[in-house]
Amino acid sequence: MRDVVVVGAGIAGCALASWVGKAGYDVLVVDAKPHFIPKVCSGLISVRIDSLLRYPSKAVLNEVRGARFFAGKDFVELKREKTQAYVMDRSVLDFHLLEKASKHCDVEFGWKIVGVEKKDSYAICTLKKGGDIRKVKARVVVGADGALSTTRKLIGAGKNLKVITGALAYVEEERVEEDVVELHYDRKLAPGFFAWRIPRGDGTVEYGLGTDSGNAVENLVKFCKRFGHEVGRRDVKVGFIPLGLIDRSCDDNILLLGDAASQVKPFSGGGAVYSLICARIGSDAITKALEMNNFSKEFFTEHYENVWKDEIGRKIEVGMAIRKLMDALDEGELEELFRIVGENKVSFLRMADMDFLGT
Ligand SMILES: Cc1cc2nc3c(=O)[nH]c(=O)nc-3n(C[C@H](O)[C@H](O)[C@H](O)COP(=O)(O)OP(=O)(O)OC[C@H]3O[C@@H](n4cnc5c(N)ncnc54)[C@H](O)[C@@H]3O)c2cc1C
Repeated sequence: MRDVVVVGAGIAGCALASWVGKAGYDVLVVDAKPHFIPKVCSGLISVRIDSLLRYPSKAVLNEVRGARFFAGKDFVELKREKTQAYVMDRSVLDFHLLEKASKHCDVEFGWKIVGVEKKDSYAICTLKKGGDIRKVKARVVVGADGALSTTRKLIGAGKNLKVITGALAYVEEERVEEDVVELHYDRKLAPGFFAWRIPRGDGTVEYGLGTDSGNAVENLVKFCKRFGHEVGRRDVKVGFIPLGLIDRSCDDNILLLGDAASQVKPFSGGGAVYSLICARIGSDAITKALEMNNFSKEFFTEHYENVWKDEIGRKIEVGMAIRKLMDALDEGELEELFRIVGENKVSFLRMADMDFLGT
């Protein structure tokens, strides 16, 4: 019997696993991927990450001080003196967290969760690798298996969530203004989300977009063409982003974490900071549960779900409301909205926090 099985070796799963493992508990991390593969992600992460995690300095590719919000060709720019966010190299960040987890836990690739069954005081995970099936008992199972989480489906949670398809590609660009990102609210190419342009600090720029309908890859190729870049379909990477405040993130012996629990900012699709905040809350809840030998849904609701929802639940709801409002506006109305924001820049800059909208 394991104390904890973490399903998913992304940043959320690895962070939680390393903290629980470091506290002296027996933790197994499993991941469906055959080996380490970094997450498809822009890596635009607020400086708040510095208070959540230590990471190698080479993970930071670029520092960003502001953003330009485009409706058509018009834009409003919000920029501060100080660095607001880093563009991080996800292969460095993800590998660092995997190494940290491997120090304190067993990590096995190639195993995907296909079932979870609850017994009196523990759960049994069914794991599959090719034709092999294996059952592992654990006091706690953490479903950190991403935006399309199987664990979430197995416990019947998250039916209220929306999932966006994201696509991105890197191109070389000669003249790059390094410290500003661009967000393009384009109804045709990025319905239900937006397109972006992020300077990576190494002579390359990331072009990306999210969409709730249509073909994300085709749309990204068209978006890149607008900036004079011919991008092949095979150069485009695709991933998924969950949006919305999940109805339930725990059950007896089971927690959901990170993208699996939709701990993501709906306004931007950023999930790294929220995942790490919730991984800390989750690891505290699990160590407490192991000390008290209480793995009930009620315990995890009180010590995990209510705690993380107190911290970021309202922000997710506000972000979702803003997301819906922006989706409902046509280009002319968006231009008008950005004009108003432009006229009130000082107040917006005083209030706006890229992680905590609605604070
Ligand atoms: C295109 C795109 C751009 C993004 N840009 C940003 C950004 O700029 N800033 C930001 O903060 N966030 C961004 N995000 C979101 C961010 O990447 C995620 O919120 C964050 O990485 C969540 O990590 P996670 O560990 O929860 O999930 P993941 O990193 O998705 O990890 C889940 C793991 O579970 C494994 N898994 C899946 N199914 C199973 C299964 N059945 N059994 C076992 N293992 C399984 C997967 O192989 C994977 O390793 C972006 C996402 C996308 C798609």
